[in-house]
Amino acid sequence: MSRTVLMNAGPWLSVPPPGYGGIENVIATLVPELRRLGVRVVLASVDTSTLPVDERFSVFPDGQFSALQRPYNQVCGLAQAHLAGVVRQLHARDDIDLVHDHVEAVGLATLAAMGPDAPPVLHTLHWDLAKHPALYGQLDGGDRVRVNGVSASQLARAPQALRDHSVGHVHLSTPLAVDADRRPRPLKGDHVVVLGRINPGKGQDVAARLARRAGFPLVLAGPVGPYHRPADLAAAGADARQNPDVRFFLDEVAPHVDGDRVRWVGTVAGRERDDLVASARAMLFPLRWEEPGGTAVVESLALGTPVVATGRGCLPELIEHGRTGLLTDDEDQLGELVLAAGPLDPQECRREAAVRFTPAVMAQRYVELYDRVGQLAAPR
Ligand code: UDP
Repeated sequence: MSRTVLMNAGPWLSVPPPGYGGIENVIATLVPELRRLGVRVVLASVDTSTLPVDERFSVFPDGQFSALQRPYNQVCGLAQAHLAGVVRQLHARDDIDLVHDHVEAVGLATLAAMGPDAPPVLHTLHWDLAKHPALYGQLDGGDRVRVNGVSASQLARAPQALRDHSVGHVHLSTPLAVDADRRPRPLKGDHVVVLGRINPGKGQDVAARLARRAGFPLVLAGPVGPYHRPADLAAAGADARQNPDVRFFLDEVAPHVDGDRVRWVGTVAGRERDDLVASARAMLFPLRWEEPGGTAVVESLALGTPVVATGRGCLPELIEHGRTGLLTDDEDQLGELVLAAGPLDPQECRREAAVRFTPAVMAQRYVELYDRVGQLAAPR
């Protein structure tokens, strides 16, 4: 059945994003596959988005990402201005069959408040919400509004109001997983990589300590707060310390960075990122938070690199211990596991990604959820 979906990406970054941008990357990966399956996509984003879609509209000329550093009420104000544009569209036209929303809390609340004549809504949860029940509170919108998680563990930990409206979960995917099992085997080096935002939840400080103790070369890749290159952070003034991730890096990680055994290379992208990951002996996730979806985890598998991690959040759903990676509950054990990961077969990792984590698999699953949301909603 052909249908038109309004994909609400929000006002923060263009789609695809210029660099870092988890949610926008998911949308950029999902939309081409949905269109291949016959779904018409109307994108609500910012003017600078270049993703090919059937129609687009926006409230802001470009991404408002830097405003996310502002006080929470101002951030919500921007989200609300964007949402007002979405609501205007929905009132003005009757061809939208479903809204697929990605704007945390504000998006769902605004769309839920629209009343029974508005289209049904599927809101994708992208964050670990266990500690933020107030963000969603009581969800109204009746049978018209549903949510999905990006892993079963994320949903299991979500506030009750969200679980009551859940239609299931859809794992994240990566274009790298397409034909991953057929690509030539990359040459493996000695290094271990940690890919992601530098943040206490991602545990780069643990990785750095383990590398020094267990004696393996470690490459930390990812932004420190707003700083993507080591030179930019070095040039930043004392004000930079106001950002908690900058403080974490300077106090807990940087003392271990010696430019030799432990290196921080800043944000890596494209071919450079893929080569760094594909040639690593393992990707390490010394997690302290419940990783909700783990894009970097599925990317690692697609690039043929086993994952060594604390078994938190979605990790046990994505990684099969002993085949595609090694998991532990004890962060002190991670160093030994890195050294034990050598015999794991890169081909097994890539095979797993090519079966489970392709964009086509993700889009197929979303179409099933769109059907389900449409069935559950009372007729308009
Ligand atoms: N990423 C990247 N370059 C970096 C660090 C991260 O391209 O230097 C990408 C990474 O490949 C992944 C995303 O940023 O696609 C991070 O998503 P993930 O779900 O792993 O973590 P999040 O930051 O959303 O918690």
